[in-house]
Amino acid sequence: MTPITGMPLRKEKRGWAYCPICTHTVQAQVILKGKAAYVKPGQRCPRCSSSLEAASVVDYRVAA
Ligand SMILES: [Zn+2]
Repeated sequence: MTPITGMPLRKEKRGWAYCPICTHTVQAQVILKGKAAYVKPGQRCPRCSSSLEAASVVDYRVAA
């Protein structure tokens, strides 16, 4: 019997992502998976409308 444990906790938060296209930090929905944080796929930059999948998470410790 193998116990089903060790599943990384997946949380979603509102945070900040750095858009490399317009070089601005914009608000984005951030997925927290264990210690890693990444931008939720399918989002667009509110400034330049480019996909935020290439953006990197800057900060997610933001009060909602
Ligand atoms: Zn942008």
